[in-house]
Amino acid sequence: MQQPLIIDCHGHYTTAPKALEEWRNRQIANLATPERGPKPSELRISDDELRESIETNQLRLMKQRGSDLTIFSPRASFMAHHIGDFNTSATWAAICNELCYRVSALFPEHFIGAAMLPQSPGVAPSTCLPELERCVNDYGFVGINLNPDPSGGHWTSPPLSDRSWYPVYEKMVELDIPAMVHVSTSCNACFHTTGAHYLNADTTAFMQCLTSDLFLDFPTLKFIIPHGGGAVPYHWGRFRGLAQEMKKPLLKDHLLNNIFFDTCVYHQPGIDLLTKVIPVDNILFASEMIGAVRGIDPETGFHYDDTKRYIDASTQLGADERYKIYEGNARRVFPRLNAALETRGY
Ligand SMILES: [Zn+2]
Repeated sequence: MQQPLIIDCHGHYTTAPKALEEWRNRQIANLATPERGPKPSELRISDDELRESIETNQLRLMKQRGSDLTIFSPRASFMAHHIGDFNTSATWAAICNELCYRVSALFPEHFIGAAMLPQSPGVAPSTCLPELERCVNDYGFVGINLNPDPSGGHWTSPPLSDRSWYPVYEKMVELDIPAMVHVSTSCNACFHTTGAHYLNADTTAFMQCLTSDLFLDFPTLKFIIPHGGGAVPYHWGRFRGLAQEMKKPLLKDHLLNNIFFDTCVYHQPGIDLLTKVIPVDNILFASEMIGAVRGIDPETGFHYDDTKRYIDASTQLGADERYKIYEGNARRVFPRLNAALETRGY
């Protein structure tokens, strides 16, 4: 069997040049007086700076670890949708998405974009549609990150099954793009951002889908639940049992035509559990590199987030299964990625 293309469906631009953060800090400092700027045009980052930030970081590690292509979105913890109002988020999202687009244009073989949305607490999700369409139609992005909790850990928005989200889903179906359900920074001291809030949100999003009939309304809608699905695979029996008590269909019919999990689980036993419990057709390779966990595991001598090692070392997976996790499932879940690869001869 031919070597699969290694597609990492979960990468963020965590290494953007400092000027981006400085621009954002000025934006936050002037929230009450936005007329004092900064203007988007005041952010100046050259192609050489972008190239360097990628070549010395993500691309270096991709080459070292043997992954080919990353679906690349703005830094998740920096989305911080809870800061300011819709206009704050709209300007910030446009800037961050444009940078990811420029990276994808500089390294078309290795990066393709996924969009951050200009969400804002209490603001209708439909306001995100112009930015979403721009990213897909003008930038060639193949997916979006959808934040189920723009309040940053206070959960003030209705669940993902609420009709207020439907305009986003209608557009996703129309454009044939999936969403990674991905929160941002927690501003609630009870929840550590990457250790608690992210995993809570993954679990919460799954349960919101389970208790609803969202996918009856949108049979082709696709969600990727990152970070290995939070607590979902580990507690699969609980979720099956709850669905049964609620007289829902079997989870494989109720949710697994629409929900997928990534492999951002940072140890072998976790990956073994994921691949044993969740059907292989629902698992997409990802590392979220360079992200929350950057260290080296003293038990293995390798980086925790070098997730390809765990897939390669799995004794449960054969070549066909590995192909699906590395390439086949990503092509199916991201049809626009598949189309882009086909035009490039892959
Ligand atoms: Zn992420």
